[in-house]
Amino acid sequence: MPFSGLGLSEPINKALAELGYEKPTPIQEQAIPIVLQGRDLIGSAQTGTGKTAAFGLPILQRIVPGKPFQCLILEPTRELAAQVEEALNFFAKNLGIQIGLIYGGVKYGGQMKMIESGAEIIVATPGRLLDHLGQGNFSLKDLDYLVLDEVDRMLDMGFLPDVKRIVQNYCSDDRQTLLFTATMPAAIKTLTGWVLKDPAVVEIGKNRSAAETVSHAFYPVVERQKYKLLLELLERTHYESVLIFTRTKFNADMITRRLERLDHKVAALHSDRSQSERTEALKGFKDGTYEVLVATDIAARGLDIAGVTHVINYDVPLHAEDYVHRIGRTGRASREGDAFTLLTEDEVKNAAAIEHFIGKKVERKKLEGFDYMYSALFNAQEKSAAAGPRSRLFGRSGR
Ligand code: AMP
Repeated sequence: MPFSGLGLSEPINKALAELGYEKPTPIQEQAIPIVLQGRDLIGSAQTGTGKTAAFGLPILQRIVPGKPFQCLILEPTRELAAQVEEALNFFAKNLGIQIGLIYGGVKYGGQMKMIESGAEIIVATPGRLLDHLGQGNFSLKDLDYLVLDEVDRMLDMGFLPDVKRIVQNYCSDDRQTLLFTATMPAAIKTLTGWVLKDPAVVEIGKNRSAAETVSHAFYPVVERQKYKLLLELLERTHYESVLIFTRTKFNADMITRRLERLDHKVAALHSDRSQSERTEALKGFKDGTYEVLVATDIAARGLDIAGVTHVINYDVPLHAEDYVHRIGRTGRASREGDAFTLLTEDEVKNAAAIEHFIGKKVERKKLEGFDYMYSALFNAQEKSAAAGPRSRLFGRSGR
């Protein structure tokens, strides 16, 4: 079905044509008519499936120009908030609707100006939004639309109490609510119970699967050789842009510093960096100034960075679903991508959990010619590795 069959207005269809959107993605096709009808919605869709337009287009269509603070969109990270604001501004280019951005780590001045001008839509992260609301800088008592995006990420990041406070204490009850989450743990189920009214549920694709266009592999290695193997992988890979994920900020900084010394064009992205550093890192990675971005899971969800050819997991993620999010940064929009994961003995259990989660085995690979200190016994040792604390996965090779 073309976009024109979804009941969207001419100015919106015009903007979509200019953006090169020819037909709706499955979540857009299913969600847009429901949101246009005014119904609450729980949406679950794989990352990169076009979720922003799925909620953004019908809301833009229903917004009354000139009525301030009609719509609030909550995002877990500043980067996602900025990305959603940018996308909405594209969609709204022919509508004369103002979209304001609120997040922490920057001065209040710009945000106060936006608030004074009475933006119809606010895209925000929870902490700074609560500051503004607590100071009475503006009110959400006439809110018509509330979007809670990436709610499972908000839960992981400890934002759920803030989200509850915002909804309970500040938002009008007379509103339409859309909630997006990839997983539905008990805490989120409880939230959906009182935040939403008789919601429709739209579930697209297998949340658990990685994009079909990503080929992925585990590279078993001992802890002491991890960095060396990373360098070797970078050396041998023809990448245009590579995103390296670490579990800790410390590792992200360590790798960034070392790669800088080797003259790689590299930047780091994690929550201890200042907002201007975070913005600069992401912008530089998007425009090609940096070929390598080293990030914690703050960058794993939803960030839309065109042309990431490779993802390297320096550490195996602790939560299996983060694996899908991380490697979803490559292979977006049906482009091919590669994802490598360095796997140490301590992480074998996490790797088994990932395979269980995605429902398939990930190939163990050995980098030919790499000077392994220990030989990795691939697939055959899998079972004992998953079962026993000291697996034989990394038996001594006699060196
Ligand atoms: P999202 O999941 O909203 O972050 O979208 C992922 C990417 O897909 C973004 O680059 C969008 O611009 C793009 N996209 C979303 N919907 C469509 C569509 N219907 N046609 C083409 N590209 C789209």
